Amino acid sequence: MTVHSSISSLYHGNAMPAQILSGREAADALLATLKPKVKKLDPKLVVVQVGNDPASASYIKQKFKSCEAVSMRSSHIHLPEETKLETLMDIVMKLNGDPDVTGFIVQVPLPPSLQSHIPEIVRAIDPKKDIDGFGAYNLGKMFLSVEFEHLPPATPGGIVVLLEHYKIPVKGRHVVVVGRSNTVGKPIAVMLLNRDATVTVCHHHTKNLAALTRQADILIVAVGKAGLITGDMVKEGVVVIDVGMNKTEKGLVGDCDFDSVAAKASAITPVPGGVGPMTVASLIRNCVRAKERQIAGGK
Ligand code: NAP
Repeated sequence: MTVHSSISSLYHGNAMPAQILSGREAADALLATLKPKVKKLDPKLVVVQVGNDPASASYIKQKFKSCEAVSMRSSHIHLPEETKLETLMDIVMKLNGDPDVTGFIVQVPLPPSLQSHIPEIVRAIDPKKDIDGFGAYNLGKMFLSVEFEHLPPATPGGIVVLLEHYKIPVKGRHVVVVGRSNTVGKPIAVMLLNRDATVTVCHHHTKNLAALTRQADILIVAVGKAGLITGDMVKEGVVVIDVGMNKTEKGLVGDCDFDSVAAKASAITPVPGGVGPMTVASLIRNCVRAKERQIAGGK
């Protein structure tokens, strides 16, 4: 196993092993519910990739694999590294106007020359087809209540499904989110607030991070720093969702020092195999939802 050591190391103080929250299992369950809908609605997902970022290539492969798993139509527009903004915007406009395309994403990161243009590229995507849920319209709707979370950002959407799959209640519980990105930290905080959790959000400028993480019933870490959260920073019985993905000599690891945190946790996501598969399955769900709403004539 590349992720963590043997199951015996997962025993915390009560001599109970931390439950491993398998994103693969929960993602398979979600995809199984989507398959009949895909058959009925026949949506199509498009991924636009610019350049050859190796991590992106691997994420895109996962996305197409999940499309195949539910027999969803998909296509890949792969543009060269030196693609100009005008060309990319032109493609976005064509995809917006193509009735055969249900939803599309522009895979990030973009090459350096385009990276600073991400906000205007995201703004140009038709909210009806914004299956990444990164645009202001879909983010704004998500703010209102659970009923308006039609196209939430894929990772937070996946985390909510993961918690539901493992029947982990959030109502009235103290959730501490570390990280406040627009794609993970902020939206998961809002989605769990919508579900009656009490939410604390921490970031770079948070003073005494450990004093806050120790209060968490559910700790969600989305920072991108291997080993940021250690066992002494969590309380016994905490549920830990580790979103981080960091390449190290030991392979891909999360933001938590897995062994010391799992020794105290009641449940924890592995990296890889935790949040990653949920993000992909949640993107597929957004594409199905987008099709349902397009048929119904709503945004
Ligand atoms: P991001 O945009 O770089 O945001 C990182 C956040 O962490 C920022 O809000 C930053 O605070 C905060 N932060 C940095 N250092 C900190 C510290 N020492 N203490 C507390 N907070 C700190 O990253 P992201 O896009 O949210 O991604 C976070 C991680 O999740 C990355 O490893 C990424 O690869 C991974 N990820 C995984 C998936 C998946 O599907 N598994 C999906 C998305 C992202 P400031 O705002 O103050 O700078």
